[in-house]
Amino acid sequence: MKIQAALAFASNGPLSIEEIDLAEPGPGDILVRVVATGLCHTDLTVLANPQLPWPALFGHEGAGVVEKVGAGVSKVAPGDHVLMTTASCGKCPKCLSGNPSYCANFRVMNMSGGRCADGTCTHNHNGKPVFARFLGQSSFASHVLAGERSVIKVDADLPLDILAPLGCGIQTGAGAVLNTLRPRVGSSFVVFGAGGVGLAALMAARIAGCTTLIAVDKVASRLELAKELGATHLIDAAQGDAVVAIREITDGGADYAVEAVGVPKVMEQAISALGLGGSVALVGMAGAEASVAFNPFLLQNQGLTIKGSIMAGENSVPDDFIAQLIGYWKQGQLPVEKLLRFYAFNDINSAIRDAQDGSAIKPVIRLP
Ligand SMILES: [Zn+2]
Ligand SMILES: [Zn+2]
Repeated sequence: MKIQAALAFASNGPLSIEEIDLAEPGPGDILVRVVATGLCHTDLTVLANPQLPWPALFGHEGAGVVEKVGAGVSKVAPGDHVLMTTASCGKCPKCLSGNPSYCANFRVMNMSGGRCADGTCTHNHNGKPVFARFLGQSSFASHVLAGERSVIKVDADLPLDILAPLGCGIQTGAGAVLNTLRPRVGSSFVVFGAGGVGLAALMAARIAGCTTLIAVDKVASRLELAKELGATHLIDAAQGDAVVAIREITDGGADYAVEAVGVPKVMEQAISALGLGGSVALVGMAGAEASVAFNPFLLQNQGLTIKGSIMAGENSVPDDFIAQLIGYWKQGQLPVEKLLRFYAFNDINSAIRDAQDGSAIKPVIRLP
């Protein structure tokens, strides 16, 4: 079938909306008409990769309506409303133990461009293969082919444009707190970086019952939004030493921290800001070559924990966790709409620009 897709033809190039050919859903595939899709920083990181085979089709916070299902699909049926998340194999030890965020086959499932075993491709532009099925989706398009494990059925009365970012960014921030850190009620929490992921972590820490909620950022408007979302203390990282300020507020160091910037120096600050027995989750993506320094003596003597977290986090399955997050949203505890700015599909390059310069916290593109 013919679909509309916002293709990238070069590293860091602008996206161009083109008509492309999409294969019919194969066994286990689900064809979803996209209603809205979030734009996530990982889209921009991979768009900046000079090594990809172009053209490429990104987007991995899609939400829409099932149009057709391939052989063997029983999870959803045409007409069902779905959010979409990354793919996982369902067969490796991590998937089998309820940890699909750490699927052993994550890379091949999500980053191999969507080639079939016979070398053909599901997405083609003028007869040329498109690097697609990115992170289980490629949702910068009118339609997505997703596997069963990437779709999460939601009630048809829910707003798909508001909930689309639950598929990656919101899930990642909230998962780092609710599933990976699991903070104690009444504890102190600090988030470094008040972007989409960081603010989701902050809202989740409030839900978890943390009572001292500190947000660190350099942008005043983001700190203001953090306050609106429940931060009890704001620290402007451009003004002085954030670690000293956190130690003062928490009387010795925070119980829990999330780093959502992806900068090694900030990760080091997040570790240094912990108090006795504190735990930090490193969530921001710093790149495969990055390294972070910490003092093992401090870790030993203070019983500190440093963890990584991605997607739904530890011991969590997106089908359950996203349903849990929708429950919080319905109760007004996870007001993701405050983070969003909406764009028309043909204005997708403005969404990219605003995400790059930080003027939009979480751009969401609405499909026509
Ligand atoms: Zn797996
Ligand atoms: Zn993402």
